[in-house]
Amino acid sequence: MKVTKAEFIISAVGPSQFPVDALPEIALAGRSNVGKSSLINRMINRKNLARTSSTPGKTQQLNYYRINDDLYFVDFPGYGYAKVSKTSRKAWGQMIESYLLEREELKLVLQMVDLRHPPSKDDIMMYDWLRHNGLPVCVVGTKADKIPKTRREKHYKVIKQELGILPGGLFIPFSSEEGMGKEELWSVISGYIEN
Ligand code: GDP
Repeated sequence: MKVTKAEFIISAVGPSQFPVDALPEIALAGRSNVGKSSLINRMINRKNLARTSSTPGKTQQLNYYRINDDLYFVDFPGYGYAKVSKTSRKAWGQMIESYLLEREELKLVLQMVDLRHPPSKDDIMMYDWLRHNGLPVCVVGTKADKIPKTRREKHYKVIKQELGILPGGLFIPFSSEEGMGKEELWSVISGYIEN
């Protein structure tokens, strides 16, 4: 995809603020710090449109970025942040859950996991939940550049095994630093937004 225009639209705190132009939406889920903002910036060739590393987990908002006039990236607040209280964890869960289950424009969820570590309990729960609810999901393994090339396959295998990605399930290793995985991810996204 050739990105000619990318803009931040809104940090939506509820459905009444979601865009109404019916463009397809690609959601990004993952732990705080996994590299969601960096991935958005890399996908659209911008250094700083998506904010990297503000206070992670602090806000309960869905950040909408419109790409060309083709789609939105919808950045979820990161999960698994230790300082988040139980109450806000619950609020996070409810907002995300209703978005994921009810938003017709949602075409694909990018579940982001850090390639350096085995998936966390939250990662596994999220992936199970997405599949259980029949949502299309592509696992994106971030920070590939931080792992020596000879060890990468081993890390991919751990992620696939522990999440339980079936053969044929979508998994893309990615590096926001070096651009690895970008074209493959655009190609997957294009397939889902054309339907
Ligand atoms: P977010 O909280 O999920 O939005 O994560 P960020 O995009 O803010 O990234 C968290 C930290 O990881 C930042 O310091 C980024 O520079 C770094 N980071 C993210 N992606 C990559 C990557 O692919 N390679 C490397 N080396 N660092 C990355």
